[in-house]
Amino acid sequence: MSSVDEDETDVCGDLCTTTEGLCNTVVGVLGGGQLGRMLCQAASPMGLKVDVLDPLPEAPASRIAHRHEVGSFKDASAVRIFARGCGVLTVEIEHVDVDTLDALASEGVDVEPRPSTIRIIQDKYLQKEHFAKNEVPLADFVKLDDMDAAIQAGRTFGYPLMIKSRKMAYDGRGNAVAHSVDKLAEAVQVLGGFERGLYAEKWAPFQKELAVMVARGRDGSLRSYPVVETAHKDNICHTVEAPAAIPEATAKAALKVAEKAVGCLYGAGVFGVELFLLPDGEILLNEVAPRPHNSGHYTIEACATSQYEQHLRAVLGLPLGDPAMKTPAAIMLNILGEAEGEAGMAAAHKLLHSAVAVPGASVHWYEKPDVRPQRKIGHITIVGPDRRTVRRRLAEIVQKAGWTGD
Ligand code: ATP
Ligand code: MG
Ligand code: MG
Repeated sequence: MSSVDEDETDVCGDLCTTTEGLCNTVVGVLGGGQLGRMLCQAASPMGLKVDVLDPLPEAPASRIAHRHEVGSFKDASAVRIFARGCGVLTVEIEHVDVDTLDALASEGVDVEPRPSTIRIIQDKYLQKEHFAKNEVPLADFVKLDDMDAAIQAGRTFGYPLMIKSRKMAYDGRGNAVAHSVDKLAEAVQVLGGFERGLYAEKWAPFQKELAVMVARGRDGSLRSYPVVETAHKDNICHTVEAPAAIPEATAKAALKVAEKAVGCLYGAGVFGVELFLLPDGEILLNEVAPRPHNSGHYTIEACATSQYEQHLRAVLGLPLGDPAMKTPAAIMLNILGEAEGEAGMAAAHKLLHSAVAVPGASVHWYEKPDVRPQRKIGHITIVGPDRRTVRRRLAEIVQKAGWTGD
């Protein structure tokens, strides 16, 4: 294993000590959910080896990983044991035991992106502070330690006021909106109280939500994918359209903010950058994920190099691939569980069957052990000659299946 203190520009040639195939370094991924599964899928054609650490015996990546170690990525000894079999460690989720990653890195284990990046990102308040310090445009924010601070935040930022938990946030599960000072206590309570670690964000009255996947090589060089538009439902990503229907100048501004954000992080990999486009054209950063991202699923069918292949290339120090689209338009629909168990499964299967009959549509099923409402269980990507066509094809799929999640 190479030391993180060594030359930052080291490439796979340094990592791989034998001549077996492209690279015989084992990539160890903390997490074996759908993102880990798609990393395994991307590794397969190149003969790369991806091991995953996940507590669920039936985790989505389990069936196709080179090796699935059943254990928690939040458990120090499980992470340590897992790391022994890997040449480079990376993540598909940021809610991991970062202290152990830090310790491993100081012992010479290669961790990409760097534990410092994961530490910054896993605490959304630290993340905001880091980006503010680096002059990345953001909505105003303030730490909340007690009700006085919340009332003061409401006075300064106005309402609605977004309250967020600092840690363990995903799919909007750490967010609560207070519409007036009377609703502050309720929002705080919904999030588990001030002890959980909260902060407030000024409301961003966005016109659209945009996202950019940015790949960062081991030498710090950046390669960005096109700007896409994301649409959320109940705080969960619903659809992604690529490229976003925005003026070129707006796309350029979005890329600039995204690259500025990723440029001030550390280590290699792909990063999912979520942005707000305000009515006056201003771009604000929402948050960054230090890993492949839901808004980049479309790259599997629509880009020369998928975000998953790109992540593997980046962490292994292989040359970064071409992020350009190879099709004029793409749309992605997340499949969320509609109902518990059998009923949810039947509805989702109907949607998959409807999709495979449509040209340009690809289905992805994550093989999760059970279907639960509002949980991501698969997605569909449709590529085509223009935005209208892919939208129409998606509408046909959804309508034919009687899918109510749309
Ligand atoms: P993810 O699954 O993307 O990690 P998350 O739980 O980290 O989600 P955020 O990205 O912070 O949550 O917020 C989820 C959604 O809530 C955003 O995509 C956006 O639609 C809305 N949102 C977040 N912050 C604000 C804000 N300051 N003003 C208005 N809307 C916001
Ligand atoms: Mg998030
Ligand atoms: Mg988000």
